[in-house]
Amino acid sequence: MAEETTPRIAIVTGASRGIGAGIAVALAKQGRHVVLMARNVDKLNEVAAAITASGGKASVAACDVADHTALAAAIEAVADQHKRLDILVNNAGITRDNLMLRMSDDEWDSVLNTNLRAVFVACRAAVRPMMRGKWGRIVNIGSTSGLMGNAGQANYAAAKAGVVGLTKTIAREMASKGITANVVAPGFIDTDMTGVLPQQIKDLAIEHTPAKRMGRADEIAAAVAYFTSEEAGFTTGQVVAVDGGMTMY
Ligand code: NDP
Repeated sequence: MAEETTPRIAIVTGASRGIGAGIAVALAKQGRHVVLMARNVDKLNEVAAAITASGGKASVAACDVADHTALAAAIEAVADQHKRLDILVNNAGITRDNLMLRMSDDEWDSVLNTNLRAVFVACRAAVRPMMRGKWGRIVNIGSTSGLMGNAGQANYAAAKAGVVGLTKTIAREMASKGITANVVAPGFIDTDMTGVLPQQIKDLAIEHTPAKRMGRADEIAAAVAYFTSEEAGFTTGQVVAVDGGMTMY
C-alpha cells in the first residue's frame, strides 16, 4: 500500500495535552504522521517525543488557533512541506463559563473565536490540499453541551452547536470529493479543562452520566481514530457522543 512509504499527514489542534494529546497518540498508532498544534511548545515537544519514542511519526507546529490568519498559514505550510494533507482534527478548545445574564461580550467572543471560527478557518484551509489528494478526513470535537445546552455555558454550547452545523455542511459540500467530516462530542472527560471545576459540579456531572464515571482521553481518541480510518470513507456528517450514555435521555 502506498501509505507505507508516504504516511498520511494528520493535523491535530490542541495536541499539547488532554484529549488532543490522546488523539495524536491514537493517530500515530494508525501509522499517520501527526502534526501537533497548540500554543505551548514545550508540552507539544513532550507529546511528539513520546510518540517518536514508541515508533510513531510526529512533528510540532506551534500555533494560536485564535489568531486566524496564523492558523490558516500554519495549515498551508504543513500541506506545502509534506505536499499533502489528509486528516484534520479540530480539537483545541477553551471554556469561559458564566451565567448568560452575567456573560460579557469578551467571554462570548473569545470562546466563539477559538471554538467555532477557528474550526471554520482550519477546515477552509485544509480542504484545498485534501481535494488535490482526492481524500480527506475532518473530525471536529464538539461537546454534549452543544447537543443539550448547559447552564453557565451559553458561549461554549453555542460554539459547539455551531460546530455540528458547520461539520454537516462541510460533509454535504465535500462528500463527492472523497472528504468526510464528522463530529465527536465528548461527555465529561478527565482533563485540565474539567480538573478546575469544583467537586460539587464534578459529582453532579458524574451523577448525570449513566456510566457513573468520567471518560478518558483515549476513549475519545478511539472514536476519532475510527472516523479518520481508511475504512470510514462512507461515514460522513455524523455526530457521535462519547459520553457514558449522558445524552441518551
Ligand atoms: P484541555 O484544556 O485539557 O486542553 C485544551 C487544548 O487546547 C490544549 O492542548 C491547549 O493547548 C489547546 N488550546 C486552547 N486554546 C488554544 C489556542 N488558542 N490555540 C491553540 N491551542 C489551544 O481541554 P480538553 O482536552 O478537555 O478538551 C479538548 C476538546 O474537547 C475541546 O474542544 C473541548 O471543548 C472538548 N471537550 C472536552 C470535554 C471535557 O470534559 N474535557 C467535554 C466536551 C468537549 P495550549 O494551552 O498549549 O495552547
